[in-house]
Amino acid sequence: MSCHLAPGGPPIRGCGATGSDALSQAKPGPCRRARSHDGRLPRMTSAEALQRLIDGNERFVSGASVQRLPTHDRLEHLAEAQHPFATILGCSDSRVPPEMVFDQGFGDLFIVRVAGNVVGTEILGSLAYALGHLATPLFVILGHEGCGAVQAALRARLGGATERGNLAALLDAILPALQGIDPRESSAGQLHSAVETNVRWAMRQLAATPGGRAALADGRVRLVGAVYELATGRVRFLHDEGAQALQTPS
Ligand SMILES: [Zn+2]
Repeated sequence: MSCHLAPGGPPIRGCGATGSDALSQAKPGPCRRARSHDGRLPRMTSAEALQRLIDGNERFVSGASVQRLPTHDRLEHLAEAQHPFATILGCSDSRVPPEMVFDQGFGDLFIVRVAGNVVGTEILGSLAYALGHLATPLFVILGHEGCGAVQAALRARLGGATERGNLAALLDAILPALQGIDPRESSAGQLHSAVETNVRWAMRQLAATPGGRAALADGRVRLVGAVYELATGRVRFLHDEGAQALQTPS
């Protein structure tokens, strides 16, 4: 089953479809269609939103992106209101623009970008806005291979390197994610592991907020982690088991 979900948007497969390796790893959750804060039905479920991101990344990787600049009519329509279908917390890295990586257009994604995709007070405020006012059914923490912020935090933890001021504060936000990193591992292996544990750390922090905990518990939203591969353009969604475990923070 296919359906068009937004003006000009590409068709997506039906809820619960399983068509790619990435999807089978991430396993779309229950097809629960939550209401937005004003009572309107959103355009899609979390499973449909996840599938739309997966399909968009497939198009991007294969060089078949369909997004073009918006028309004036589209801009005028968007000026009335925004109804993004997913919220993404990603890194500021210039090589990881979410709209392009997922082949989405204006008004599709609510994006928060900060070096190292770290969670802080203002970040949580932005995500809380997306949760409470935009009612996006899907939240994605998007890390990426070769992340310089995570690399710097690794150097601080394992090599004793130091930074000052606000940069040190940024690295401090990543350090808790690195506790399980094996110092005997290769540098590349450490960074690969650290990028993933940093994504899971952000997920855990988001899931631990009162709003996040309530929304995840009643199935209003889905929280998934993902890692973007710089050299291939592919987004690797983390295994669902880990995401589920993070819904009950200890
Ligand atoms: Zn980065």
